[in-house]
Amino acid sequence: MSDPMLYISTRSQAPGVTADTALRAGAAPDGGLYLPGTLPAFAPDAFDGTGGLADLGERLLAPFFAGSPLAGQIGPICRDAFNFPAPRIRPDPGDPGLEILELFHGPTGAFKDFGARFLFRSFSALGQSAGNPVTVLVATSGDTGGAAGCAAEGVPGTRAVILFPKGRISAFQEHQLCCWAPPVEALRVDGDFDACQAMVKAAFSDRQLSARHTLTSANSISIGRLLPQMVYWSRAALDAYAETGEKPGLVVPTGNLGNAFAAVLARACGLPIGPIVLATNANTTLSSWFVSHRYEPRASIATIANAMDVGAPSNFERLAAFPDAEIAAVECVDDATIRARLRRTFDRTGYMACPHTATALEAHARLDTGMRTGRRWIAAATAHPGKFADIVEPALDHRVELPPALGDVLNRPVRVRDIAGTPGALAEALD
Ligand SMILES: *Cc1c(COP(=O)(O)O)cnc(C)c1O
Repeated sequence: MSDPMLYISTRSQAPGVTADTALRAGAAPDGGLYLPGTLPAFAPDAFDGTGGLADLGERLLAPFFAGSPLAGQIGPICRDAFNFPAPRIRPDPGDPGLEILELFHGPTGAFKDFGARFLFRSFSALGQSAGNPVTVLVATSGDTGGAAGCAAEGVPGTRAVILFPKGRISAFQEHQLCCWAPPVEALRVDGDFDACQAMVKAAFSDRQLSARHTLTSANSISIGRLLPQMVYWSRAALDAYAETGEKPGLVVPTGNLGNAFAAVLARACGLPIGPIVLATNANTTLSSWFVSHRYEPRASIATIANAMDVGAPSNFERLAAFPDAEIAAVECVDDATIRARLRRTFDRTGYMACPHTATALEAHARLDTGMRTGRRWIAAATAHPGKFADIVEPALDHRVELPPALGDVLNRPVRVRDIAGTPGALAEALD
């Protein structure tokens, strides 16, 4: 039996908590974020013989749940959560040093499926072992809510309540939030995204309400979303390392820094990962920090890579607190350059990327020649281009199809309830 894994807050030296408590709480009580207190150190051959993502995930993640009620269940959770592939594609035969890791083959067409599916299955296991279901509150301005709703559908022991701002998200996004069967409930809020977040916050601080429904959250700071994201980075890095004998570099389209921090964590556990490069859209908080070493969050600006429209990356606090968090470069890519990169990639290779993925392809192209040619580079493709057809089609002058599973979403019936933008309205809806 291994020692329990304790999670400690980025802000305090207070005693740590086991994984189940960290998952249920979301943020630490002092307002900080949970980090593993110790890291498992994997030997180079630790993953020999592991096949797909589920297999590797079980071995990689088990130590992170030691001492929690989830300890014996990581294998089944991984098998259920990671039931779709993350293929590596070499888009350009003329540039064998660049691979794209496609993370969008899950049911909602974006990499957030990995984190959401793992988190909801963990909540389900916890809810069943404690005998009372958890209610997961999600305030969303788009993609996260869709992945959460989809991940919660049909999962016993959980209830997912999704709040989104009326009239402020795309028709496809709204459909993807409102089409899931119970225990998923969509609430269309008469207010903006900040109002949705304020309502969720108020619900958590209402102790009676919170206890009555065992409220928890699925937002981007949950360690239960971060840990599963280590799995695809680890699989890709191990495979590239086996092929080349060299640790691959990673290029990560970045918003709240969850995906990139998962790569940092995997590298710190001994996985063969080389330099990590962050690609952002025109939001400059991270590129300014990289140059000046000063972190100055700012208001986000709207771009065509909108899932990365973040001015205060929520996981920055983890990166700042982590000892081996070296980042090799941060590249900021504006909308015109995203469009140009989409077009260039398509014209050269026929590969269609989404706008977020294009930031990573551009960042890779900007690496100086020595750095770029010295090793294999893996750029993450975070969403299917068909989800962003309104941007991709005019940029490429070419039609892009939604994969059938995503298209099917549009045929599902919608269930949604309209509520006022007040804490009282949410409490009433929950009861
Ligand atoms: C959420 C998201 C990102 C940004 O990921 P972070 O973990 O927040 O840095 C990038 N691309 C897409 C398509 C996303 O949905």
